[in-house]
Amino acid sequence: MFDYIIIGAGSAGCVLANRLSEDPNVKVLLLEAGGRDWHPFVHMPAGLAKIAGMTSINWNYTTVPQPQLNDRVIWVPRGKLLGGSSSINAMCYIRGVPADYDEWAGRGAEGWQWQNVLPYFRKSECNERGEDALHGGDGPLSVSDLRHINPLTRVFIEAGQQAGLRLNADFNGAQQEGVGLYQVTQRDGARCSAAVGYLNPAKSRPNLTIRTHAQVNRITFEHGRANGVVCSVRGQGFHFEAAREVILSGGAINSPQLLMLSGIGPADTLRGLGIDVVHDASSVGENLQDHLDVTTLQHCRQPISYDRTSELKTAIQYFFGGHQGPGTSNVAEGAGFFRSHLAPDARADIQLHFIPAMIDDHGRHRLPGDGYTMHACNLRPRSRGRVTLVSNRANDKPRIDPNYLGDAEGFDLQVMVECAKLSLDIFAQPAFAPYRGEFIFPPQTPKTEADWIDFVRARAETVYHPVGTCRMGSDAAAVVDPQLRVQGVAGLRVVDASVMPNLPGGNTNAPTIMIAERAAEMILSSD
Ligand SMILES: Cc1cc2nc3c(=O)[nH]c(=O)nc-3n(C[C@H](O)[C@H](O)[C@H](O)COP(=O)(O)OP(=O)(O)OC[C@H]3O[C@@H](n4cnc5c(N)ncnc54)[C@H](O)[C@@H]3O)c2cc1C
Repeated sequence: MFDYIIIGAGSAGCVLANRLSEDPNVKVLLLEAGGRDWHPFVHMPAGLAKIAGMTSINWNYTTVPQPQLNDRVIWVPRGKLLGGSSSINAMCYIRGVPADYDEWAGRGAEGWQWQNVLPYFRKSECNERGEDALHGGDGPLSVSDLRHINPLTRVFIEAGQQAGLRLNADFNGAQQEGVGLYQVTQRDGARCSAAVGYLNPAKSRPNLTIRTHAQVNRITFEHGRANGVVCSVRGQGFHFEAAREVILSGGAINSPQLLMLSGIGPADTLRGLGIDVVHDASSVGENLQDHLDVTTLQHCRQPISYDRTSELKTAIQYFFGGHQGPGTSNVAEGAGFFRSHLAPDARADIQLHFIPAMIDDHGRHRLPGDGYTMHACNLRPRSRGRVTLVSNRANDKPRIDPNYLGDAEGFDLQVMVECAKLSLDIFAQPAFAPYRGEFIFPPQTPKTEADWIDFVRARAETVYHPVGTCRMGSDAAAVVDPQLRVQGVAGLRVVDASVMPNLPGGNTNAPTIMIAERAAEMILSSD
């Protein structure tokens, strides 16, 4: 018997495990389907290129064919180990802008406006530049400047300025727009995942039990109250009981899947799959949003990209040289936030990740030679998709349909075309002249609007930020209320990226950690 059971040791689950177990009288159980984060390439930042394809630490999902992307199936990586996706992500530390959170509140997430969430961003953060009105200086999540910067990234920053963007030293500061370097979730040149930042300092507490290889198959209920979970630990079945609450932190794909497997979802569909209905909630799994991204690649005429950097030398320098050199790079070094002519308000609508290497198929396909890659994504897509069940078996992967570019007005497609045009515009600036080689993707500059659209449909893919499938709101259809309690039952909350009403304008790790920091206070003060 535990007080709290947390399902999933990802970005949110690790924060909760730490904060809830700070009180020695509270017994916490953290269940993680994956294993420990022991692999050295999880911790060496540049190792992310190597771990991208490791199926043992990745749920390795795919979407259903996407009609607006030439019926392509899109890979959806999700971390399956301690730290969850924060153990495999690109470490870019971005929060979005204040208006994103004011928009959440305006959509029914009462109490989640910027002035309410800023203290939790600050609480979580330990920025090596120190504390100020916007940044924290002593939180568990270390945020650092990059130790190693490829010369091509400096070229990108110069070219961005030549294209009209201002130089920005802090994308989480007073202004988001501009071009510059990402700050990264790293400590001493190593990845600072949620497991490193939050779980490691708490894991020896006697009141915190951590079980890995423990996949929760179902949440159990008694008289409408969640009272435990049915879990398979290395193939053996267990029923763990929770005296106070069950907290679901499985992420934007697995949390709605597990709610539905537990009987919370669209009643008719669940009955059709042979699942006993606990609460009819048609919104579970709906409202899936993701940052669609288009990558533009060119060859580099000088051998300075990371493509030919010796992996062995890099690893030796990193592991035996005090965490120095290219091994400390998150590879996605260069940042840009741009407000296109399509932006409906004052916020930037396009984000850039510049990579001084050729990234094809998420880095799983190596191209010969040297080159550089621009990722450009639409920050506020209007398309909405869904996660649904295919069966009542927990081991069957859910059906993921992000419905990319599916908005009725075709607005998202227009923004993606702007993303591709901006990328090529920056590559065409004088700063790139000494380096610019052959075009790769696209093979030449698209000539007509139809060519640009073809390029987007053929190349766009996820930049890994699914959210929104257990939407928080104040309306009856919302999956969770603003206290993150699942509506229609007692004793159950969802705390992870799935509760976001809509995407913030940037990467989603820091916002998820903020949500969990705030949720922990809500949970402890609700007793
Ligand atoms: C490749 C990649 C690159 C990214 N790059 C960045 C970046 O640079 N910057 C950034 O801010 N964000 C980035 N993100 C996004 C960010 O990491 C995620 O938004 C964030 O980690 C989501 O946190 P979460 O707690 O919602 O889910 P997760 O961190 O995914 O955690 C969910 C956890 O629950 C576990 N789990 C799921 N189901 C069960 C079950 N049934 N039983 C037990 N355990 C279960 C999972 O194994 C996992 O550990 C990236 C993501 C990926 C995948």
